[in-house]
Amino acid sequence: MSKGVRVRFAPSPTGPLHIGGVRTALYNYLFAQKHNGTFILRIEDTDQTRYVSGAEAYIIESLNWLGLIPAESVDHGGDYGPYRQSERRDIYTAHVEQLIEAGHAYYAFDTPVELEEMREREKANGKHSPKYDASIRMTMRNSLTLSDAEVQDLIEKGENVTVRMKVPEGEVIGFSDEVRGRVQFDTSELDDKVILKADGLPTYHLANVVDDRLMEISHVIRGEEWLSSTAHHVLLYRFFGWEAEMPVFTHLPLIMKPSGKGKLSKRDGAKFGFPVFPLEWNDEKEGAIYAGFREEGFLPDALINFLSLLGWSPGTDQEMFTRDELAQEFSIAKIIKSGAQFNYDKAKWFNQQYIIASPTSELLALVADDIKAVGGDLSDEFISGVIDMLKPRVESIGEFVTEGTYFWSAPTAYEEKPLKKKFKLDNQAHFEEIISALQASDAWDAESLSALVKGFINDNGLKFGEILPVLRICMTGSMAGPDLFEMIALLGKEETVSRLQQGLKEAIAIKTAS
Ligand code: GLU
Repeated sequence: MSKGVRVRFAPSPTGPLHIGGVRTALYNYLFAQKHNGTFILRIEDTDQTRYVSGAEAYIIESLNWLGLIPAESVDHGGDYGPYRQSERRDIYTAHVEQLIEAGHAYYAFDTPVELEEMREREKANGKHSPKYDASIRMTMRNSLTLSDAEVQDLIEKGENVTVRMKVPEGEVIGFSDEVRGRVQFDTSELDDKVILKADGLPTYHLANVVDDRLMEISHVIRGEEWLSSTAHHVLLYRFFGWEAEMPVFTHLPLIMKPSGKGKLSKRDGAKFGFPVFPLEWNDEKEGAIYAGFREEGFLPDALINFLSLLGWSPGTDQEMFTRDELAQEFSIAKIIKSGAQFNYDKAKWFNQQYIIASPTSELLALVADDIKAVGGDLSDEFISGVIDMLKPRVESIGEFVTEGTYFWSAPTAYEEKPLKKKFKLDNQAHFEEIISALQASDAWDAESLSALVKGFINDNGLKFGEILPVLRICMTGSMAGPDLFEMIALLGKEETVSRLQQGLKEAIAIKTAS
């Protein structure tokens, strides 16, 4: 009986998860949600030479942060485990033996030097890209060319014992890809891929196909870079007699550089000043730290929304999608066939929209500690007020701290140019009266304060433009910032009066000095 939709995200822990990998995970996750299916995380760690410590934990932490939680995984368990390939060695060995017995695979004992010699020889014979294939295999040291006794002997010695799949000659291997349509490869283009390495572990191709079948994967959704491997995979399905259970393949187009030219690489992040990883990654080998979306102040929902549209289109102008809407709307048929251009400004725009839409209490939980670290012992109520005011003005979570400085420290410098322009010494007495009126005011909410100051301006025949900008600079040091009276209301009477008095002194000094 069909198990319904079962999809897997199958990263190799060879380094941090690139944003393209996150998108692959997301599309698998959404597809599973849409079809009430199962989203599985499988760790493909059979290549010991490329294993990077910390990478698996990084992958899991990234998915957790983004809320892409698998139903089956190393952490969550499941009926199809183990979910880490290095723990499935026996399963692969048994399957490789099955292929050898059926004549679909053979032992190969060639050393790296012999393989290199073969390539040189073939190049000298005029071949462009020589490979271990039907035209070559009978000239090499393998179980097809050596006697049984020799083969046994070499296996026992255990040096350079690999197993290769035997790609048939003169065939066209075709499969249907949901994005590309019909894809075909001539077997003359395919080499006899190693499926079991000298270290006894399988290669990606063998392990991937065996696991997809044993885990009853219904749909394979992965990056375009795996398209050419699929021909080998289709052959393996046939060798095992699993053709009828072959998953539906979808290869996602690449994520391109902001220029649209070439694949987005990890170095582009550093080059253009944006993150290409979900979380910060400390690359000890390179001695480099790569920025992460989380540390750059992104909300996970914003990144999800941004990535959902980086290669998929709902077919309408709608840009903002809740997770539920995405799960409803997502469809493989609407994956965009060309590469998706990475646009960091768009990512920041999404983040801003999500920050504006976030309840203040949620933002408070994210930023309170950082604000207290620079602003001192501030109350949650006060910080919430700051968040409310800054929400429409920040693009990242970190900006609540960097943009909000004037809420916890009185200005130490004042923007001179506008202050000189707007402040008139003749108005000094008016400012003093405004300060006194504020000091005497019983009401301390933005509306009353605004009515008080604006009423004073009107009653005295003054202009808003000669008073309000000066008050603002006295309060924050600059012309920028949220609504003046809301800010004054939040900062309280004592702080406001003290800032205005200090600012007025500065204004007079600046003006008299010029
Ligand atoms: N382990 C492969 C990777 O790192 C998985 C490719 C696939 O999904 O088949 O991307």
